[in-house]
Amino acid sequence: MANKIFRSILFVAILVLGMTTVFIVDEMYQSFLMSQMELLEAETKIIAYGIEKDGVDFIDDLDASDYRVTLIEKDGSVIFDNSGNVSSMDNHLDREEVIQAINEGYGSSSRQSSTLTEKLVYTAIRLSNGNIVRLSSTYPSIFHVVTIVAQPLLLVVLAIIVLSFFIAYSLAKRIVEPLNQLDVDSPDDDNCYKEIKPIMKKLSNQQEMIDNDRKALERRKQEFETITANMNEGLVLLNNEKMIIDINQSASVILNIDKDMIGKHISDVEGYEQFSDLLMDAQMKHHGSKKIRLGDKNYEFEVSPVKTDQEVQGFVLLFFDESYKEANENMRREFAANVSHEMKTPLQSISGYAELLRNGMVKDDHQSEVYDRVYYEAQRMIQLVNDVIKLSHLDEDNLNIPKEKIDLCELSRQIVETIRPEIRNGVTMDFKGSEAFVYGNRELLETIVSNLCENAIRYNRDNGTVDVSVKTKDDKVILEVKDSGVGIDEKDHERIFERFYRVDKGRSKEVGGTGLGLSIVKHACILNNAQIEVESKIDEGSTFRVIFDRV
Ligand code: ADP
Repeated sequence: MANKIFRSILFVAILVLGMTTVFIVDEMYQSFLMSQMELLEAETKIIAYGIEKDGVDFIDDLDASDYRVTLIEKDGSVIFDNSGNVSSMDNHLDREEVIQAINEGYGSSSRQSSTLTEKLVYTAIRLSNGNIVRLSSTYPSIFHVVTIVAQPLLLVVLAIIVLSFFIAYSLAKRIVEPLNQLDVDSPDDDNCYKEIKPIMKKLSNQQEMIDNDRKALERRKQEFETITANMNEGLVLLNNEKMIIDINQSASVILNIDKDMIGKHISDVEGYEQFSDLLMDAQMKHHGSKKIRLGDKNYEFEVSPVKTDQEVQGFVLLFFDESYKEANENMRREFAANVSHEMKTPLQSISGYAELLRNGMVKDDHQSEVYDRVYYEAQRMIQLVNDVIKLSHLDEDNLNIPKEKIDLCELSRQIVETIRPEIRNGVTMDFKGSEAFVYGNRELLETIVSNLCENAIRYNRDNGTVDVSVKTKDDKVILEVKDSGVGIDEKDHERIFERFYRVDKGRSKEVGGTGLGLSIVKHACILNNAQIEVESKIDEGSTFRVIFDRV
């Protein structure tokens, strides 16, 4: 661009210079010719006066070597000429200056000489006897003048061109410099040309839109990866040429392949022949499934075509260990047994107390205590049922949870403010933090913060402390809940996130725990792309840390 501007400025400068030079030279030549003509006219008048006064003798005696003086009869014949043979001269009645002088008393004209280097100028005056006296002089023609002044003129023109070259170069540089420094992120920059500002604003808006789209895409990809990474089922995505686009962790383990296989054909996978027929069917747009034995395990394989506008764009391979199904079944059974066991105890208590009350076996002054027990057991059941419902929701709805940009600091501060008045064991709870945005589900984030805070209070010593903080570090947001409580033995750090696992069953029940709080927290963290870690020492206290992506 700078080159183009430079060339344009230089071209215009040279063009203007050329035109100006031609114009000035021509103007100067014309004004020179005019002044010579006036001089010649004055000389003619003097000579005419002399002839009128002294007759033809006046020109005979005249030293007029600079001019050619001609005396012409009114019929056009030449009667005197100081530089030629009068008898050989033609009739001059057709000469422009002579015609003018006969008609108007004075005439003038100029003619190019045959050599092109000279110009002839004539002035003629009619005498009182009707004869014409004519003076002529030769001057260099404009071509001749140009050839004479050519050398100095060329030098000047050359100097001006060199100067124009430098001026054009510096101008082009100055014009382009602000363009080179344009910053799409700051379209209101004062250094930016005002004509470019609307384009800059448009560009900046578009950039912002692209950035947001890219971030949304990145988030979706991450969500997808988090979900698929935590799936027990193997998942392989293929394009329409059956090349592998993506594989999840479980698929890598089951098929004994790694991420290097991405980009290769599915037929390179060991055992392909066992499910190739499913892919053939899928190519015909049919979903198919069958049981396959890989190694010493049985797997259920499912292949589905991915279609848009009736065109197959790719394939999804989903497979799971049949024995995993069994383990799942066992887990479900165990979970159901745990739930019913947990429910049985408060129900039995409630039923026992109810029976005592019904049979009138509780003395009046003990009745309020029994009602309190019934109320407490009923509350525990409600808490347990709520936790079970929450967990089953997390198990089911995890793909469609709505997410938004949330200030985790503000959210945590509000939860701390809500919980603080409920504290009964003298524990003090402090909050520290500044604005820190994360992208997540509000309800789940609230669950994470409140469960961790409630545990920190519950498993604390009397008059202990809880410090809740939200801070940002690089591209992460860190929520920390630190207590001065009983602490957790290192061997239990992993297990406390399991369903119904409690370090101290008696204490947990006594303080109203269900054994599900941390497994709900862990699940909620996974669904919000966050990692949870714990640091704890017996009798010193615990710190639970949740690390989110910052937005
Ligand atoms: P609960 O409802 O029993 O509190 P959780 O799943 O929330 O269930 O916690 C599991 C177990 O982890 C608890 O029973 C408790 O033994 C231990 N635990 C959780 N938080 C803390 C803490 N802040 N300090 C000490 N122990 C804790």
